[in-house]
Amino acid sequence: MAQETRSFEAEVTKLLHIVANSLYSDKETFLRELISNASDACDRLRYAAITDPGLSADDPDLRITIDVDKKARTIRVSDNGIGMNHDELIENLGTIARSGTSAFMDHLSGDDNKDVALIGQFGVGFYSAFTVSDHVEVISRKAGEDQAWLWSSDGQGSYEVSEAEREGRGTDVVLTIRKAEKDFVEAARLHHIIKRFSDHIAIPIRFADGVADSPVAAGEKLNEASALWTRQKKDITAEQYTEFYRHSAHSFDEPWLTLHARAEGKIEYTLLLFVPSARPFDLFSAERRHRLKLYVKRVFITDDLEGLLPPWLRFVRGVVDAEDLPLNISREVLQSSPLVTRISKALVKRLLNELGKKADKAPEEFATFWGNFGAVIKEGIYEDADQREALLKLARFHTTRSGDNLNSLADYVAGLAEGQKSIFYITGDDLDALRKSPQIEGFAARGIEVLLLTDPVDDFWIASGFEYEDHAFKSITRGDTEFDEIKAPDDKTDEAEAGDEGALSTLIAHLKLTLGEAVKDVRTTDRLTDSPVCLVADDQDIDMHLARLLKAQGQDIPQSPRVLELNPRHDLIKTLATAATKDGASENLADAAYLLLDQARIIEGEIPEDPAAFSRRLADVMAKGVGG
Ligand code: ADP
Repeated sequence: MAQETRSFEAEVTKLLHIVANSLYSDKETFLRELISNASDACDRLRYAAITDPGLSADDPDLRITIDVDKKARTIRVSDNGIGMNHDELIENLGTIARSGTSAFMDHLSGDDNKDVALIGQFGVGFYSAFTVSDHVEVISRKAGEDQAWLWSSDGQGSYEVSEAEREGRGTDVVLTIRKAEKDFVEAARLHHIIKRFSDHIAIPIRFADGVADSPVAAGEKLNEASALWTRQKKDITAEQYTEFYRHSAHSFDEPWLTLHARAEGKIEYTLLLFVPSARPFDLFSAERRHRLKLYVKRVFITDDLEGLLPPWLRFVRGVVDAEDLPLNISREVLQSSPLVTRISKALVKRLLNELGKKADKAPEEFATFWGNFGAVIKEGIYEDADQREALLKLARFHTTRSGDNLNSLADYVAGLAEGQKSIFYITGDDLDALRKSPQIEGFAARGIEVLLLTDPVDDFWIASGFEYEDHAFKSITRGDTEFDEIKAPDDKTDEAEAGDEGALSTLIAHLKLTLGEAVKDVRTTDRLTDSPVCLVADDQDIDMHLARLLKAQGQDIPQSPRVLELNPRHDLIKTLATAATKDGASENLADAAYLLLDQARIIEGEIPEDPAAFSRRLADVMAKGVGG
């Protein structure tokens, strides 16, 4: 086959442009990325060889070899792992097959130096080679195939692929280092970088024979080459844990929590788990898959075994290495193995335990964690009955009392007013808007705490009928307020007189008549103190924010009209009530009725049903007001 020239996917071109043009401060990480890929390739070969031993029989010792040529200014990273064929080279090194990529790319500002920090968080993998090189060649031969292929590129929008020769399976990545970066073409420098970033790699890394100025004896390993999790905790530094996390998670942040333990007894396994300090980009992708790597006796099996971690812990990264699982069984059988279920249960328990300790001992750190992953954990409250109680304990909330901090449900219950049974909440998109919701006024005036919930998942778990220590959750935008039963300590609601009851009833009758089907009911409320009106859902109807969410998701939900509530102590309502008892009231009040409903809608973040009519009515009323 002749040489073919292909264009990089648009996203890769954009990424390469940033990588090559910005002052990337951590240039030496290119080596970590290439060694990490080489090590993954060896892991994958080892797994494939379990079912097809012929793949590695001729060359069973997995290794990574580094060669340096000062004169030619090249660095070569070679592995005898799984290798890539023609199509895989194109698929893997011409695109970014990672979910969330395009969303991530949309975040970039166009300022290369700023964007490189973001790109760093994303993890640039193979493409980081172009931070130091002006030409990259990849020669690869897939295990079990005879033909090798050469991929080459200057990182400028296109690459070439052609047939090549390679002895045996595996991959060589050959970098031609830019003149300005020639310091990298030194064995001592590379040795130093490998020690720092790749010591934890379980595959031995060595210099090729005859490397000039090698700081180590010929054939000596450059890394520790034993799986990090098999070492004693005391022999592992924080930096080594971090580097391992970055390698295994393909991340660039620091781990927020590191959990390394060995379980002995009925089932034996080692776990090395990390909670990231930043949200991975695909956290909310529809598959909700975890990335925990499963090893069996040091052999990598998969990072995608369903059932190893529940979806609501999908942000956890790291490794589980089990001693007792059989190696040569299919994924399906493995998935349904009772041992996997037991390991999973134990992992969940340990993680919840650690998170609970953090929540108690380091509430500020925990708040950061909760800000990143609370929305995911809450999925567990909804779908994992076994853990619901533990998760409700762990959950933290913004509330009308918490200020900048977060409160737990235990905090909430400790502050219940006399006679208060329910835990009150409101859901919405934005914390500030929620704080200003009219429906909150009456609760604030009585000193009753309200949970302020802004994660989309909140509407689902909290309306599912679960209780926390016999306290039901009650929306303050649906049904009644329960104020009759509550003796509020700082009740400041009686400061203004309510309007005349008879007049109010007449007003309500007029409003009902005018608004007709547009509202379910019109009534006075003690929910409001400063605002004249608000909307709430009727007791049996779907809550207002949930209805908006479902509608935005394109779901066809029944349109239930809301209840329009009036504040009987508000001057406007009192004035309207007086007007309602006068002659010609129905005519005079028609515009007011619609304006009241529309302003209540606007506070909910909705638009008036008929914006033109709204605008006309408002203009009329203003003209009368200003003129009058
Ligand atoms: P990532 O490693 O995050 O998936 P990379 O850009 O580093 O992204 O690599 C893309 C893909 O190319 C890898 O997922 C892997 O399938 C393939 N690849 C890279 N290097 C090698 C290698 N040395 N041997 C085999 N496959 C490789």
